[in-house]
Amino acid sequence: MTTTAIPFNRPAVVGDEMRHVGEALASGHLSGDGAFTRRCHALLEEIVGQGRPTRALLTTSCTHALELAALLLDLAPGDEVILPSFTFVSTANAFALRGAVPVFADIRPDTLCIDAAQVAELVTSRTRAVVPVHYAGVACDMTALDALAQKHGLTVIEDNAHGFLGALGERALGSFGAFSTLSFHETKNITCGEGGALLINDPALVERAEILREKGTNRSQFFRGQVDKYTWVDLGSSYLPSELLAAFLLGQLEARARVQAERGRLWEGYRSGLADWARSAGVALPHVPEGCAQPFHMFYLLLPSLAARQALIAHLRERGVLAVFHYVPLDSSPMGRRIGRAPLGCAVTAEISDRLVRLPLFFELGDAQQRRVIEAVTSFDGV
Ligand SMILES: *Cc1c(COP(=O)(O)O)cnc(C)c1O
Repeated sequence: MTTTAIPFNRPAVVGDEMRHVGEALASGHLSGDGAFTRRCHALLEEIVGQGRPTRALLTTSCTHALELAALLLDLAPGDEVILPSFTFVSTANAFALRGAVPVFADIRPDTLCIDAAQVAELVTSRTRAVVPVHYAGVACDMTALDALAQKHGLTVIEDNAHGFLGALGERALGSFGAFSTLSFHETKNITCGEGGALLINDPALVERAEILREKGTNRSQFFRGQVDKYTWVDLGSSYLPSELLAAFLLGQLEARARVQAERGRLWEGYRSGLADWARSAGVALPHVPEGCAQPFHMFYLLLPSLAARQALIAHLRERGVLAVFHYVPLDSSPMGRRIGRAPLGCAVTAEISDRLVRLPLFFELGDAQQRRVIEAVTSFDGV
């Protein structure tokens, strides 16, 4: 009997997405900022803001939300932005596009989040911003980073692509920085295929964010009757997703409790199913510190070496299980070397990047497929 391969990820319809998309189609309004976008904004503001004056703006991706945040910083060439080397390229590109120098910090070996002690050493008179990434949805040390930002007048932009629906203490991830960004790419917990959002926690920054997102025009104010002309007033680009995507996204957002309950169950299934094997094989499982409510974005293993990690990926592939590694360190990438700096090196990033493997974790994985993954992993003795 042949069994089908278990993909690393597969997006699913989890609630009222199709009904909402049908309603959007029937409404005759398909461009951005219609009723479904407004409903997504309200929900995101409630989830991330928790009563604070947070504003949400849907974007076409997390990449674009980061670009919008970078535009809002008015960066000058030579300004520096500190970010982890262990992240997706967009975290760096968004600021590099504005002429800023990405300064790479290493990560902590326990949470795989940016090392705040290194950030403190990397701050110079040119530093303008710091961009923490809550890796796998486990919070960065926001107390230390906020203190540094206060002391040196830096803007904190949380790349919260992994951390949506996670928390640190009582506070939602994405509520700590002046800005935070979300991704609704199909590999994320909540998705509309491609999409994102900029969350703005500083009310003074909202008006300009709306203008830059609307091609540098005051169109949003015009439609609210706040100005009598709609014209070009600033730099900008087009970052609005269509109402079709917002309608799909609304269905996912409304079903978030269901999505998270299932992901949490699967995550715990991996942890309990792999604990004994991991202990005897010298493999580390994810570390979630006290006080961090993680959103079950990712289940990863840290193998003892690159050779063992590659052997495990091959072993799983032979058994029809697709597991992937990430991230390739940015500080040693061709572009990172060309335009970035890492004065303290990123030794932990290099090591973790070699040793990490992510297991399939998605809404429709189910118990039977998860059992196959666990059996495939625990039959590996190549470490
Ligand atoms: C997925 C991801 C992004 C990019 O998201 P898009 O919506 O695909 O642009 C950025 N940063 C991190 C940390 C991510 O995981």
